[in-house]
Amino acid sequence: MTATTTPAPAGSPEPTELGPGESPEQAEFRAEARAFLTAHARPRQAASPWAVTMHRDRDAARAAFDRGRAWQGTMFAHRFAGLTYPVELGGRGGRAWHERIFQEESEDFDVGSGFISSTIAMLGPTLMQHATDAQRAHYVPRLLSGEYAFCQLFSEPGAGSDLAGLACRAVRDGDEFVVTGQKVWNSAAQFCNWGMLLVRTDPDQPKHRGITFLLVDMATPGIETRPLVQATGAAEFNEVFLHEVRVPAANVVGEIDGGWGPARTVLSNESAFIGGGSKAVGGRFPRLLDLAELHGRRADPAIRQRLADAYIRERVIAAMAERIMTAVRQRQAPPVDPSALKLFTTESRVRSGDLAVAIRGAAGTAGDDEIAVWTQAELLGRYSVSIGGGTTEVQKNNLAERALGLPREPRTDHQLPWKDVPRS
Ligand SMILES: Cc1cc2nc3c(=O)[nH]c(=O)nc-3n(C[C@H](O)[C@H](O)[C@H](O)COP(=O)(O)OP(=O)(O)OC[C@H]3O[C@@H](n4cnc5c(N)ncnc54)[C@H](O)[C@@H]3O)c2cc1C
Repeated sequence: MTATTTPAPAGSPEPTELGPGESPEQAEFRAEARAFLTAHARPRQAASPWAVTMHRDRDAARAAFDRGRAWQGTMFAHRFAGLTYPVELGGRGGRAWHERIFQEESEDFDVGSGFISSTIAMLGPTLMQHATDAQRAHYVPRLLSGEYAFCQLFSEPGAGSDLAGLACRAVRDGDEFVVTGQKVWNSAAQFCNWGMLLVRTDPDQPKHRGITFLLVDMATPGIETRPLVQATGAAEFNEVFLHEVRVPAANVVGEIDGGWGPARTVLSNESAFIGGGSKAVGGRFPRLLDLAELHGRRADPAIRQRLADAYIRERVIAAMAERIMTAVRQRQAPPVDPSALKLFTTESRVRSGDLAVAIRGAAGTAGDDEIAVWTQAELLGRYSVSIGGGTTEVQKNNLAERALGLPREPRTDHQLPWKDVPRS
């Protein structure tokens, strides 16, 4: 993919102060990151604070996806992608603080990789943990550069929360698997050229076994992607139909029939990313404050109370996310179960959406001026994080069973062969 280099306009932000206790090495990297961003990105002031990432227009959605992908290519070309990944895989061989400093510096610029950053966060650690050396050498540089844009082909009409019940079938035929089935809710699949796909390879084993994790080229014959239009008018996810799709056995990540392991790694990193690693989720407080100012509601005690609540929640999320993401960036086990972070973030999104509407009033959510569109996106989009990446109820189960060691939910189908599990 071609990297873009956008010259910085006049009036780029001034260099930031060095953080207290920053080492010379860290200060040097901060200056290097700043110079790169100044040379290749627009300062954030030029972008409207009310801009939304939701696009009703399909061409605009594709253009936004392509911009994110191109920015990933630019970072890769200048060694600012995959900062903690090994140099021989296209990364920088850096530490978690490299990521933190780069993110801090990026805050002042109107840049981001959008969807691409989520797949790197999910698939990167999975490849590092479960792929072969040859697979890592092939896929990691292409993932980090955005040349391969991966969608997640996990959920099915009958397998969302109960993902291990999935039915998409793959049958071995020589050096290939032949895949037939349906996936659903696949974010950005209409724009991605690769997919991470979960398939059922052994229906005689219990449901968590007999699943295989495949990487699939979306241009393979037999794959049809149909966008789904949401209440917002945007089509952010898709149905994906697979009919006798031939996938090389060399594309299996982990063991054949042992795909639940890499799938769990993807899901844990997804929770961490949605909870705190994603710029798209956090940082609503400044706009809520501006909204209260615009509507003369800053002195309203009830609104002030809720603004304070939003501020405190965002600080707590930032602190928790920093601890978790520091571990994730170094591909270590997180000190806190990412489910806790995702739950907290989810609750915050719902409260912020409610507050935006409370400040602006019901009438303010209608119309198509940019603040109305932002408020609509807050209102309608606030539940997306409580469903995507595992629902709130499922995260609570995970937290109870994995982190707190509480008794497991009663299960009747755990030891049954998948083919004998009753299905609707
Ligand atoms: C914004 C967004 C993006 C997404 N992107 C992708 C993607 O890229 N790729 C992909 O594969 N999927 C994606 N999904 C799908 C997502 O993973 C599923 O929607 C989610 O796992 C829930 O599954 P479901 O929709 O089938 O709901 P169901 O599993 O049918 O759940 C219905 C309700 O029952 C509750 N429930 C289910 N089981 C239990 C239980 N054991 N205990 C208590 N309550 C329970 C749920 O919490 C929920 O309220 C996305 C979803 C959203 C909203």
